[in-house]
Amino acid sequence: MALTNLLDFDPAQLAAYCAELGEKPFRAKQLQRWIHQFGVADFDQMSDLAKSFREKLKQNAAITAPAIISDHTSADGTRKWLFDVGQGNAVETVFIPEENRGTLCISTQAGCAVNCRFCSTGKQGFSRNLSVGEIIGQLWMAEFELRRTKGVEPGPKGERQITNVVMMGMGEPLLNFEPTVTALKLMLDDNAYGLSRRRVTLSTSGVVPMIDKLAQECPVALAVSLHASNDNLRDGLVPLNRKYPLADLMAACRRYLDFAPRDFITFEYCMLDGVNDGDENARELVRLVKDNPHPVPCKFNLIPFNPFPESGLVRSNNKRIKAFAQILMDAGIVTTIRKTRGDDIDAACGQLAGEVQDRTRVQERMQKMAEYQNKYGKNFGRIVQVPT
Ligand code: SAH
Ligand code: SF4
Repeated sequence: MALTNLLDFDPAQLAAYCAELGEKPFRAKQLQRWIHQFGVADFDQMSDLAKSFREKLKQNAAITAPAIISDHTSADGTRKWLFDVGQGNAVETVFIPEENRGTLCISTQAGCAVNCRFCSTGKQGFSRNLSVGEIIGQLWMAEFELRRTKGVEPGPKGERQITNVVMMGMGEPLLNFEPTVTALKLMLDDNAYGLSRRRVTLSTSGVVPMIDKLAQECPVALAVSLHASNDNLRDGLVPLNRKYPLADLMAACRRYLDFAPRDFITFEYCMLDGVNDGDENARELVRLVKDNPHPVPCKFNLIPFNPFPESGLVRSNNKRIKAFAQILMDAGIVTTIRKTRGDDIDAACGQLAGEVQDRTRVQERMQKMAEYQNKYGKNFGRIVQVPT
C-alpha cells in the first residue's frame, strides 16, 4: 500500500487524517510542529506522540519532499537545488542569504505556459502543476539542508535559516492556485513555519481574476511582473496581457491593496536594452501608476535582464538602468535595482530552466537518499529511480 505523504496536507486535512487514525485534534498540531517547525522526518523521534500513534504513522504515512538532484553554492553564498518532480521533470529552488534574513525562492510549476519572451522557464513550455507536497517540500527540504550544513540536526533546537519566502521561481503561481494557496497557508501557520504575511511574497505575471481570489483566500505581499509601460509593448513581452490588459491589471492591484499586508504593490520590471528601457517608457510608467483616476501605491524593482541562450535579448547597461530609475524616483516612486545574485550557478531570475536530469548521477542520488533513510528513518523521502 502506498504511504500517505503528510507534506500534502494543510492543517485541517492533517487533523482529519489523524482523526481517521483515531487521534484527537491536538495530536495533529503536535505532529505538524514536528514535521514543519522542527524538520523531523523520523516518526520515532517525535517524542511527545504516543508510541501507538507513531506505529500507526510508520505503517501508513511518510514525509516525502522532492528528492535533490543537484545542490550548488555560488561564490556569493546563493545556493541552488534542483529537485526531481518525477517523469523527467525538475524544478529549481534558490536560497539567498543576506545579513539579517534568508530568502527562499520557490517554484510552483514545472515549466510555465505564459511564455514571456525574456524568460527561460517560459521557453521550455509547460509540463505540469506541482502538488502541495512538492511546493512546501522545497521549503521543508531547503530548511533541512541549510541546518545540516550548519551542523544542526533536525529537532526543536534548530534556529530557522529561512526567514522570507518568495514565489518567484519556475511557473506562474496563480495558474496553480489551490496547491499554491495551501502551501502559503502552511507557511503562515504558527504550528508550521509561522512566517508573517509580509515575509511571504507571491509574484504573478497578472492573472487578474486570481489576484482577487488570492485577496479573499490568503493575502500575502504581492509582486506583479509589469515589464512594459503600455499594452502594445506588454502584449509582445507577456502574452497574458492580451487577456488581461494593463487597465484591468492596475484595477486588480488597487483592489488587492485593501487586503494586502503591505500598503504597496511591488512592480517588477526586467530591463531589456532598446526594448522597454527608454526615458519615455519610464515617464509612461509614472503616468500609468500615478496620473490616472485611481493611482496604485507601488514600489519598482528593476531587474537587469539575465541572458540565456537564444533569447535574442540584451541586458540594459548600468547607466541606462540608473537613468531609468532616476525618472521613477524623481516622480516620488521608491525604486530599487535588483542585485543579480548567483548568476555563476545560473540561479538568477529567469535562468531557472530545470535542466534535464543527468542520468549518469542516478547512483549518486540513490546513495544519498539511502544515507538519509538510514539516518532519519525509512519513511524519509524516496529514492529516485530514473529508467535508463
Ligand atoms: N511567473 C511569475 C513568477 C516567476 S518569474 C512571474 O512572472 O511573476 C519571477 C520574476 O523573474 C518575474 O518578475 C519575471 O518576470 C522575472 N524574470 C523572468 N525571466 C527573467 C530574465 N531572463 N531576467 C530577469 N528577470 C526575469
Ligand atoms: Fe512564466 Fe513568470 Fe517566466 Fe512569464 S516570467 S514565462 S509567467 S515564469
